[in-house]
Amino acid sequence: LTVPKPKSIIANGTVYLDHGPEPVDLLIANGEIAEIGKRSSFPSDIPVVDATGFVVLPGMIDFHVHLDDTIGGRYLADTYLSGSKAAVLNGITTLFSFVTQAQGSSLRQAVAVAQSKVCGKSYCDVGFHLTPITFSDGDWDDIQSFIGGGYRTFKFYTTYKAAGLYQSYAALRELLKRFEKLNARVLVHCEDEMILAASPSQSQNVSDPISHTFIRPPAAEIEAIYQVAKLASETGARVHIVHVSTASGARIIQEKRSEADLSCETAPHYLWLNDSVLHGQPGQRYLCSPPLRDEQNRSELEMLAADGAIDIFATDHCAFSAADKNESTTDIRNVPNGIAGIGALVPLMHELIMTQQHTDWSELVLRLSKRPAELAGVYPRKGSIRIGADADLVLLSDTGAARPIRSSYSDSPEPYPKRTTTLDMRYVFVRGELIVKDNQLVQPERPTGQVLWPI
Ligand SMILES: [Zn+2]
Repeated sequence: LTVPKPKSIIANGTVYLDHGPEPVDLLIANGEIAEIGKRSSFPSDIPVVDATGFVVLPGMIDFHVHLDDTIGGRYLADTYLSGSKAAVLNGITTLFSFVTQAQGSSLRQAVAVAQSKVCGKSYCDVGFHLTPITFSDGDWDDIQSFIGGGYRTFKFYTTYKAAGLYQSYAALRELLKRFEKLNARVLVHCEDEMILAASPSQSQNVSDPISHTFIRPPAAEIEAIYQVAKLASETGARVHIVHVSTASGARIIQEKRSEADLSCETAPHYLWLNDSVLHGQPGQRYLCSPPLRDEQNRSELEMLAADGAIDIFATDHCAFSAADKNESTTDIRNVPNGIAGIGALVPLMHELIMTQQHTDWSELVLRLSKRPAELAGVYPRKGSIRIGADADLVLLSDTGAARPIRSSYSDSPEPYPKRTTTLDMRYVFVRGELIVKDNQLVQPERPTGQVLWPI
């Protein structure tokens, strides 16, 4: 049984089309944008959403989240249900999470498991970045069929040897050559395993969270970015560096762009927080990898972001329960690494882009919608308001009543406890269905998000 999707008209708003804002009306039908023009030319029997005073943006995308998964031996605090709630209440309509092949099992099985965690349990649409760990002929057949089905992004690590995820630069070079031929983008977590192994953890007081910054020093990231950027240029592969935390790393990427297909992201916590929060025990709630850096680095990274050196902002949302984060320990290396961020992404980046950098909604759309959609290979189905695109739409203003930023609906410690936002999410549509009205879920019991490329 297929239930016909509701039709609606969005009228009187300022609509951010690909080339900029226009005072046009939208007709939504079958979950897509069916017409762009004047309301008077649309059929008269369709319900109208009045967007007077609001901007109408394509749905925002969080390109990097971890949900409903075990990481470092502990279960994450957020499921797709709670994570997508924090997302969609803040204008995010598509999430990209990670699927890693398990030891002794296939990537296909891992995707099937992840898919079952999303179906009927997410308010947002969900795409997956895939991490294969074995590469037999059969595994490559699987990878090719995933690519045929729409998957475009694969993720590898230059660290995490103990977890079985590490790829040497030589191994990575071979993977890049192969994925270059397959028209897929390779995401890389850049921290140099050798530098990490040589870091002076023995001489540190590992009961103090600040020691994390010595255990995972900036040099590890900078060296790995340098090596991976070189591989990108040598192989011609499309390479995306995840969660860049160092200004020097971002500069290397900026310099290599002319000769390599390189892109990168940073996370709000590297732009809004510095390592001063790590001193003393409350600091362990801010442990993440790569670690928060010093204030000089933070401010340089912010300037680079303003300069366009960072393609997209994505959260690396990886929330652990308050109990897991605050567990008393004499060795902070046992604290799970990761912090919440989904619900903070749009409010924080809105403030940075519009209030501090004095640019406009177009820049927000570029960094949080269009560009992530391009990198994931889903543009213009996502990330664009045009005829035929999914009707993922956010009608918002930034003159609402101040409300607290809420990164997660789990009990994970809030990284931005004193911050508020005036973003007013008046209406959020996912594929033409109204999911949020007046900053509230319309039907909390009915999560209708879909996997972008079901298998
Ligand atoms: Zn991550």
